[in-house]
Amino acid sequence: AGKQELGNQAHALFDRFVASQTCKEVQQNFAELCHHLQLDSQDYHHFYNKLKEKLNYWKAKELWQKIDKRASHPDYEQGKPCAKTKCLVLGAGPCGLRTAVELALLGAQVVVLEKRTSFSRNNVLHLWPYTIRDLRNLGAKKFYGRFCSGSLDHISIRQLQLILLKLVLLLGVEVHTGVNFKGLLEPQASGSTGWRALVHPESHPAASYQFDVFISAGGGRFVPDGFKIKELRGKLAIGITANFTNRRTAAETQVAEISGVARIYNQKFFQQLHTEMGIDLENIVYYKDDTHYFVMTAKKNSLLKKGVIKQDSSDAEQLLAQANVDQEALLQYAYDAAQFSTSHKLPDLEFALNHVGKPDVAMFDFTCMHRAEYASLVRERRGKKLLIGLVGDCLVEPFWPLGTGIARGFLAAFDTAWMVRNWGKGVTHLQVLAERESVYQLLSQTTPENTSKNYPAYSIDPSTRYPNVNLSSIKPKQVRRKRRSTETDSLRRMVDLLSWCQKHTAWCERVQVKDLSQSWRSGLALCALIQHFRPKLIDMSSLDENDAVHNNQLAFDILQREFGIEPIMSAGDMASSKEIDQLSVVLYLTQVHNVFTEPVS
Ligand code: FAD
Repeated sequence: AGKQELGNQAHALFDRFVASQTCKEVQQNFAELCHHLQLDSQDYHHFYNKLKEKLNYWKAKELWQKIDKRASHPDYEQGKPCAKTKCLVLGAGPCGLRTAVELALLGAQVVVLEKRTSFSRNNVLHLWPYTIRDLRNLGAKKFYGRFCSGSLDHISIRQLQLILLKLVLLLGVEVHTGVNFKGLLEPQASGSTGWRALVHPESHPAASYQFDVFISAGGGRFVPDGFKIKELRGKLAIGITANFTNRRTAAETQVAEISGVARIYNQKFFQQLHTEMGIDLENIVYYKDDTHYFVMTAKKNSLLKKGVIKQDSSDAEQLLAQANVDQEALLQYAYDAAQFSTSHKLPDLEFALNHVGKPDVAMFDFTCMHRAEYASLVRERRGKKLLIGLVGDCLVEPFWPLGTGIARGFLAAFDTAWMVRNWGKGVTHLQVLAERESVYQLLSQTTPENTSKNYPAYSIDPSTRYPNVNLSSIKPKQVRRKRRSTETDSLRRMVDLLSWCQKHTAWCERVQVKDLSQSWRSGLALCALIQHFRPKLIDMSSLDENDAVHNNQLAFDILQREFGIEPIMSAGDMASSKEIDQLSVVLYLTQVHNVFTEPVS
């Protein structure tokens, strides 16, 4: 009877884990389940199989069936290709987590770092048919019963993150939330360590993790050093998103979704909206999900006329700067557009709240879209190689009203997993990169129409998804040339940073900046930079060059308090360490440079 009781408790814990509705709940319930079953979640090689052994529960078994089916795909070779590969994934957004699933199935040790502690995005993502199938096959419906029921082809960002978080945990992936990735740390001269991450909080156990693959899935414009970004500047495009509470009443259920009414297809609708409400849109999408979600592209003139934007400007950044937007008018604009486009049939329309408890309406600039010039890189220091790959929004920024983010994001996640598989199998690194870049060339043109329709056959192998893909369209020697130019770029950035520091500390006779390491030991150079840009914050005349700990502490405190820049090492270490780590100083000074050169809004 005791055994049965323990079993029942395990079932209840499993049910609770599966039903968790916040990131914290997922983590807590998972920890409890592991504790109860006496499972070590860090035993990534065996975790999933041990869990399966210990949890004899029909509901869990339904999920294992799905996971096992995927895991038995020949591409994974039962986890052998990456059995010795250690991966760090930056970002627990949908694309970072989706990549983590694949890396775990390939047998790799996977650690995910996420700076946030909650998943709070109500906004809704469009799913292409293959992504729906992919997620269903991974048990999405077991984690979230409402997943794409009927003809639904979308999901809120937070629900998607929750599904994937649960899945990666079951597969033995370590996920650390509340950990901010600050940069890569090169292997030490002694050869005793490999590549590591500089993180905040500094003492977090993830700081000692050594890895040979780094996947950046930090979203938006988070691109690690060494990658070149292309800016695609289009005509001014102002996106507005709005979320309203969905009470799931009968009246709400009946209102039809709008899955993309582009202006050219429905001129009458947009004309009426303009004439009757003064709202001029290029397009609008409405999805009914956890919230009533609207995304639209609005024309500048109507936003000016309606007082949403206060002052006109030819610079999109200035135009949409917080101080130039009337928040109340924006709420009204979004509300009216939502009411009109649903023929006023959504009763008691009330804004849902965002993560800071405010009405969830936001305005975004899509005028200038970013795209990484290439998707992968290998860095080598002190005989240790690190493979770096980009996935998701930091690889190709999506235009939300078109809903390409997840579809292209997952394609890149699979392609990246394929690259890591080659890496794990010992393929030469130039070959690995050449193949990855050959596939990446296709990504921006992919549509549901030009990708393979044979969804059941989709795997991490690119040829199952892209018809006629040529895996050697880019040759290893082309990659080598690119790599050289990247190293030159990186060097150039360091030289630029050094001359910026020299220029703005030149006024202070006591300071001589010669490099990005030892010259910063006394702390005076940092104080001089602060005094140059913010003379009110510091008075250098009282500082003693020999009191390095005090000077560094003072500068670190000011920069943290005023600009939120966290110190890279303690003032004591900075003053006393024999060899100041150049990379840490560069990372720190880059942030200082950024806050002092940011345009003031
Ligand atoms: P993200 O989902 O952005 O995830 C990146 C993760 O990395 C984040 O959780 C972030 O906290 C974490 N991270 C970043 N830097 C660090 C660091 N230094 N250390 C640790 N963690 C870090 N798409 C649509 O189609 N429609 C929408 O309405 C829409 N709204 C959006 C609203 C917001 C506020 C944002 C940010 C994105 C929105 N998107 C929208 C884009 C959509 O969320 C992405 O396409 C999708 O989530 C896939 O992105 P991703 O996983 O690459 O990145």
